[in-house]
Amino acid sequence: MKKTFVTHEQLVAITRTHPTPFHLYDEAGIRRTARAVNEAFAWNAGYKEYFAVKANPNPEILSILRQEGCGADCSSLTELMLAEAAGFRGREIMFSSNATPAEEFVYAKKLGAVINLDDHSHIDFLEGSAGIPETICCRYNPGGAFVVSNHIMDRPADAKYGFTWPQLRDGFVRLREKGVREFGLHSFLASNTLTHAYYPALARLLFETAVRLKEETGIRVRFVNLSGGIGIPYRPEETPNDIARIAALVRDACEEILRPAGLADLSLYTELGRFMLAPHGCLVATALHRKDTYKQYIGLDACAADLMRPALYGAYHHITVSGKESRPLDHVYDITGSLCENNDKFAVDRSLPEIEKGDLIVLHDTGAHGHCMGYNYNGKLRSAELLLKEDGGIRLIRRAERPADYFATLSATGFYDTLTEIAGRG
Ligand SMILES: *Cc1c(COP(=O)(O)O)cnc(C)c1O
Repeated sequence: MKKTFVTHEQLVAITRTHPTPFHLYDEAGIRRTARAVNEAFAWNAGYKEYFAVKANPNPEILSILRQEGCGADCSSLTELMLAEAAGFRGREIMFSSNATPAEEFVYAKKLGAVINLDDHSHIDFLEGSAGIPETICCRYNPGGAFVVSNHIMDRPADAKYGFTWPQLRDGFVRLREKGVREFGLHSFLASNTLTHAYYPALARLLFETAVRLKEETGIRVRFVNLSGGIGIPYRPEETPNDIARIAALVRDACEEILRPAGLADLSLYTELGRFMLAPHGCLVATALHRKDTYKQYIGLDACAADLMRPALYGAYHHITVSGKESRPLDHVYDITGSLCENNDKFAVDRSLPEIEKGDLIVLHDTGAHGHCMGYNYNGKLRSAELLLKEDGGIRLIRRAERPADYFATLSATGFYDTLTEIAGRG
């Protein structure tokens, strides 16, 4: 059974001052996971986790992670700005972008971030825009199918990311000619993996590539970035990843492949997003309507604008009806949002206890790729974000959007003043 990190009594108390819907994040849990990750990889002297900012781009969350020794992995202009605002500097920032505009390379270089190039052609593009820095990372795409324990995890050949092997070898040589002194290697081959074998298999691939680069070009890779992809158990029957075990298996790969090649002192980096944050957030909504037609529906005050993963990928998010945790799951519901899109369903045919209007509905595991994926379709306004602090206090770390926010970009038109006046009346 999956449990919420807040009690029913706590939630009721929170909703007295903060109306639903909102995402709630658990500071204690975030710190616990960050410490577990850092401890698991402590055997590697240069280890650093660069939190994938896209998973939860709230600067309050970023600064908690920074206090725990993490860096920030960015891939856009505004993510770089958020990292800067949260206090990350220089090598604490990784810039793993693709199809990158010139101004973003310029900004990343100015911040002293480690630039992770997505393509061979970006070498010239970077040289022509920001100039070539002394440290650079290249993203590798091995092509074909990525097979782990006789199981195809994903098809890198179909992914838009990264250099091929010949491009990588040639790119390293060209970058050395252009003055690069320190090289890194990056790859991201599978998402939300629930097997201990993913990181070790990826590490083997990248370690072997580092050895081959050394043999064929004489260039010593100084860091390997295993990127993101470690998953979490969204479903109650799934088993959580044991990060200590994963890190130990990566260490074995290091001893077997890097040690004999004299590369065992390279630094390991990760860019985990989901693993760091997903379990430490939930979306809290209120049941507004019950509807009985050909099926039974519960309509919430939240919609896909607040949490898009179910509508976008059919992703499973566990649901708890707050206060009814021990009641039998003897009703079957579709749990819906209010968008005029039939895929705006947080759950389809879900067995739950009987839901009454006004019940608090908790959607689990929304700490990563949750609020931040939201959008304004149908003019829906995105929810607030709250932080449950370690001392039990609650802090508003993003207010809910208001109509005026939605109209703000119309300031170029003659309707802006009228809309602002209408919004002000509400
Ligand atoms: C999305 C992303 C991550 C984080 O992925 P998770 O699945 O959340 O761990 C890391 N690095 C890059 C380059 C990404 O695009």
